[in-house]
Amino acid sequence: MNSIVYEQALSALVNEVTAVDSTEMIALMQVKGRVLAEDIVARFDAPLFDNSAMDGYAICDLEQKQWQIIDQISAGDPSKHIQLSRGQAVRIFTGAAIPQGTDAVIAQEDCELKNQFLRTGLDLKHMQHIRFRAEEYTLGDVLLDAGKVMSATDIGVATSQGYTYLNCVKKIKVCVFSSGDELQNIGNTLAENQIYDSNRLMLLSLLEEHGFDVIDGGILTDDLNSIKKQLKHAADHSDVILLSGGASVGDKDYSKIALQQLGKLHFWKLKIKPGKPFAWGQIAQIPTFLLPGNPVASWVTFLILVLPALKKISGLTHASYLPKRFQAEAHFELNKTCNRQQFMRGNISFIDGKIFAEISKNQGSAMLSTCSYSNALIVIPPETLVTQGQKVDVIYLSSN
Ligand code: AMP
Ligand code: MG
Repeated sequence: MNSIVYEQALSALVNEVTAVDSTEMIALMQVKGRVLAEDIVARFDAPLFDNSAMDGYAICDLEQKQWQIIDQISAGDPSKHIQLSRGQAVRIFTGAAIPQGTDAVIAQEDCELKNQFLRTGLDLKHMQHIRFRAEEYTLGDVLLDAGKVMSATDIGVATSQGYTYLNCVKKIKVCVFSSGDELQNIGNTLAENQIYDSNRLMLLSLLEEHGFDVIDGGILTDDLNSIKKQLKHAADHSDVILLSGGASVGDKDYSKIALQQLGKLHFWKLKIKPGKPFAWGQIAQIPTFLLPGNPVASWVTFLILVLPALKKISGLTHASYLPKRFQAEAHFELNKTCNRQQFMRGNISFIDGKIFAEISKNQGSAMLSTCSYSNALIVIPPETLVTQGQKVDVIYLSSN
């Protein structure tokens, strides 16, 4: 079996998984965080009519010394069919349709008023302070692309075009299991040498945070038949299965065997630290991810491998499902090499226009508490030392 690096594993993984094709209509108020199943197209020009960008006066003929105010138009007023003649003006407010014959709008703070006449000391530009029909976009333009995750701003855009429901990709349902005889549920007292099952709640919460529906599968005991039975049941009731623990090479590590016997196992010798025992496969077309039991390794492999795959399955476009990776200046030294590619927990900070990376103190793959105060993973290639000020790759974890 060939060893592969993270980048190869990620691209193989996202190439193999396919996006769901079921869609549903979602009301605009519920659409935030959902993935668009089709492009949102402009139903009409924006703006729809020429209108004033200022509270002020619409005037006819820039060459005049003064203009006589003959009427007033507010935003939302039905058209009065006013036709301005030379030397005439109307009082106008922001968003109001400009009348025929307008040559410019003068902002009210630039006007002097006397009786029904206005003057200005300013040099006027032809058609200043007017927002023209279709200057932003025209009927039929694509405003939001299929595969985009709807943000609050996008909801504003769709609303401005009169949409009430949007066609979205159906949410996927992810079933999460933990495995190991040493695991105990919270609320119960720990027996000797037991530990609380922290991975499952962490993974369920991460999934919810990223907008997936979840099913809590509970704890699987280290027993091949019962693991198989429960995985098979989960494959009938969910779109994706996540299982942490038991993916390694110990005598009681049954999850890979279970997957192999139930469906298909794609196992790589992943040369990463933490996260070596990562595998995935399918049970009756249901993508199934086997994560390491060590909590940090579980957290890291979820973020760098599983999450991009889940986003692709959910219909996100290519650019938006890949991790946010860029370079930063090392604010640390590393004087010990590792033969695997390392994903060190750390923090990036933005100071005076530069990006700096620091690594956190405890890097052990069972030391989860460090992750609470890490906003990035610092990617160190195999056999590499790092000196202060050197450029290093970082993956930004926006939600931490
Ligand atoms: P495993 O991958 O099953 O060999 O487990 C590796 C290490 O992770 C062991 O120390 C396990 O006790 C621990 N571990 C496994 N599953 C969990 C879990 N759900 N929560 C916390 N620690 C776990
Ligand atoms: Mg185990």
